[in-house]
Amino acid sequence: MTLQSVLDEIRERPGTGDVIPVIDPSTEEQITEFTDGGAEAVNEAVARAKAAFESGVWHEQPARERAKVLWKIADLMDEHADEFAELDSLNTGMPLAQAKMILPTSAEFFRYYAGWCTKVNGNAYEVQMTGGVSGAYANMHAYTLKEPHSVVGLIFPWNGPIFNACAKIAPALAAGCSSVVKPAEETPLSALLLDRLIREAGVPDGVVNLVTGYGHTAGAALSTHPDVEKIAFTGSTEVGKKIIEASTGNLKKVMLELGGKSPVLIFDDADLDMAIFMAAMGIFVHSGQGCVCGSRIFVQRGVYDRVVEGLATVANNFKLGSPKEEGCMSGPLISAKQLKRVMGYIDEGKSDGVEVVTGGYRLDRPGYFVHPTVLAGVDPATSRLYQEEIFGPVVTVLPFDTEEEGAALANDTTYGLAATAWTTNLSRAHRIAKKLQAGTVTLNSQLNFDHNVPFGGYKQSGWGHEFGREGIEGYLKTKSVWAQL
Ligand code: NAP
Ligand code: MG
Repeated sequence: MTLQSVLDEIRERPGTGDVIPVIDPSTEEQITEFTDGGAEAVNEAVARAKAAFESGVWHEQPARERAKVLWKIADLMDEHADEFAELDSLNTGMPLAQAKMILPTSAEFFRYYAGWCTKVNGNAYEVQMTGGVSGAYANMHAYTLKEPHSVVGLIFPWNGPIFNACAKIAPALAAGCSSVVKPAEETPLSALLLDRLIREAGVPDGVVNLVTGYGHTAGAALSTHPDVEKIAFTGSTEVGKKIIEASTGNLKKVMLELGGKSPVLIFDDADLDMAIFMAAMGIFVHSGQGCVCGSRIFVQRGVYDRVVEGLATVANNFKLGSPKEEGCMSGPLISAKQLKRVMGYIDEGKSDGVEVVTGGYRLDRPGYFVHPTVLAGVDPATSRLYQEEIFGPVVTVLPFDTEEEGAALANDTTYGLAATAWTTNLSRAHRIAKKLQAGTVTLNSQLNFDHNVPFGGYKQSGWGHEFGREGIEGYLKTKSVWAQL
């Protein structure tokens, strides 16, 4: 499948709503367009998914056969690696080299969860209770069965289109669910190619169903649909709350991976060169459009000036550019809307008297590029840009004195997605790991990921987990069976 055929295919997808342009954010030019599928496409997709589930065509296949199909999807993705990388870099503006790095990690979700297909087991229980109505509890046997949710809705954002798609579709397939998949309206392209490969690998028709459209139309229809048992959502906390409200009709199970305002603590005993470089990477890479980006950096006072200067140096040498420009470390923001949002926070900070150490402006070229921005002197109590998720290449830096003060500053947020500490003091590292209120804490490193390590948010950063054993369990129900012996 060539790039052009994906651009053509999406134009031809049926829809009844608005025509949605797909923009290359590094040029601001339209690359294709499609019609919002809206509620109608969702209703049809859910009906197909439900029929496929009820037929047993997928979840009743032997687990080892389903595992082979998942493995095959990964192999096909590898075969089409260049096309995926081209589609996602065109659609998000990320450097082609980065899109090429993300693809094998995305495909690996299918191999990782292929392994889990044959390891879904319940437990057996010794029933020790006695004296029930029949007086026969001593002769009971109980066990649990793990059963797939029937139809699940998978909704995800634009920041890592193929990664986000695979992170949800692979465990849903491994569990045996049927799914309706809604990518972000900004970045639907790679999902089309994946959809084709899923069927080529042998997933029966109706088991995975792609819908393309807006969140407030297609996404909302999916999250209110009475035949959808579960929604797995990645996106903003604001929309996550709407998903919860929408799910009350049939009390859908909801898994939410939401926003963050992740702290990075740099102690004066840290390996400073490494800490500065990684802290800068941890916010400027992908123009800050990563859920775990460390957007609030706290530095112990003795090394504060050196760290601020170091961050500014990395920021000023951080080459931005369009996907095929040589040596680029990051692309643009995803959209004009996101550019407006990011610049709005920066401009508000400027008028509040925040110190702009470096950056704070849009690049003078086509594309939604914002210079990596380091801000100091923010007031934690009043500054919106300090409190709210910006999802752009903007970091605030504040000094702290003691470990307790650093932890308190780090935790003073409604979010709890990720947190990092840089220190060579082993005891302090583990003390602080316990104190930080985040679903993922990283010590002396940043931007880590593995398919086997669970990921989820504390506080308003989410409900439930993805990846690892927890990742597949979210798509399964537990049934307890009692038997009279
Ligand atoms: P978003 O606006 O919340 O959208 C996420 C998805 O939800 C999109 O597919 C969107 O569709 C859809 N949506 C919007 N309104 C909806 C509604 N009323 N009902 C159902 N679905 C709806 O997030 P975004 O701006 O795309 O992405 C950035 C956010 O994602 C950030 O907050 C970031 O922290 C978060 N994120 C979290 C993680 C994590 O694992 N915790 C990972 C990556 C990103 P449309 O775009 O088509 O309207
Ligand atoms: Mg959106």
